[in-house]
Amino acid sequence: MNSTVQTMQNYFRHLRMAETANELPEFLRKAEKFSWTYQEFLEELLTYELKRREAKNAERRLKWAKFPYQKTLDEFQIDEQKSISSRQIKQLKELNWLEQQYNLILLGPPGVGKTHIAIGLGLEAIQKGFQVTFSTMGELIHLLKTQEYLTKSQTQLKRINESDLVIIDDLMYMAMDQREANLFFHLINNLYERSSIILTSNKGPEQWGELIGDQGITTAILDRLLHRVEVIQLNEDSYRIKYRSSIFGEKSVQT
Ligand code: ADP
Ligand code: MG
Repeated sequence: MNSTVQTMQNYFRHLRMAETANELPEFLRKAEKFSWTYQEFLEELLTYELKRREAKNAERRLKWAKFPYQKTLDEFQIDEQKSISSRQIKQLKELNWLEQQYNLILLGPPGVGKTHIAIGLGLEAIQKGFQVTFSTMGELIHLLKTQEYLTKSQTQLKRINESDLVIIDDLMYMAMDQREANLFFHLINNLYERSSIILTSNKGPEQWGELIGDQGITTAILDRLLHRVEVIQLNEDSYRIKYRSSIFGEKSVQT
């Protein structure tokens, strides 16, 4: 490799185009081989840098999202869940609701696919360039309570506050005390009309009051969450139980 190429590679690195820098010799070789015009050469180089950059950003967003597992919507078997249609799943996948800052509430008993759908939509959003975070209600409360003295919690809450989509899994699994309810309200208020929230819960909003405790805070939270919302009720039998693996080596048969 001649020294001019190396110098140019260094210039590219200075300009924070490391991907192009690494590939430059290959680009020059191809340009000669295929007799690229100046315009073609420049276009190849720039689209390569942009593509690599977006892939890296998507990787970073995926890491920050902190999904407990990764399952796509394509892996969701729609015929196993009669309470949602493939058309609805397709519509959700288009993410118009996210662009319009709509919230989604996924309700239903354990094992019906609430978390799976939430993660699937989260993955879709990441692919389309959105910033996403996932936390269970328990983790979220922990973050809120420890933000004053744990930098780690501060960092994660900052990401949550900056996200386009905030997934809160298993809402109201536990009763909240006054301080927790207050902290939770402030978070929801912060996200209100700036981001979309996906909430999953095994209890409907009419029961959230008991768990939040304070009537005023409950109303204020519900006001914001339900202002622009799509509620999806999943009702089928638990997929988890139906398809649990058995220690006897065969899939269990539902009774
Ligand atoms: P929930 O959050 O409603 O309790 P999950 O989404 O965690 O339930 O689902 C439990 C398990 O069953 C997960 O591994 C999930 O991927 C799987 N599952 C549930 N419903 C379906 C479905 N319709 N198609 C494929 N897998 C499913
Ligand atoms: Mg779940």
